[in-house]
Amino acid sequence: MTISRSLADIANSIEMLEIRCSRCGRTGRMSVAKLIDQYGPTTLLPDLGPILVADCENAQAHDYAKCDVFYPQLGKMMDDLTG
Ligand SMILES: [Zn+2]
Repeated sequence: MTISRSLADIANSIEMLEIRCSRCGRTGRMSVAKLIDQYGPTTLLPDLGPILVADCENAQAHDYAKCDVFYPQLGKMMDDLTG
């Protein structure tokens, strides 16, 4: 099951969004407030992934080799929201 969350959805729970690239191991933290400023509160996290890895060295690779972003905090946050 996949739940698409927008930046506005996570803004109350998360101040700094942790970002990890599953391919090249890049990690980063971005201010949710800044992301909202830049991309708007309704931007969905899955849509944001490709934008955030745009400067990864494998971002332009094809299919399986391509960089893919995930958000380590989200699993825990969903527990918080549902539990
Ligand atoms: Zn990458």
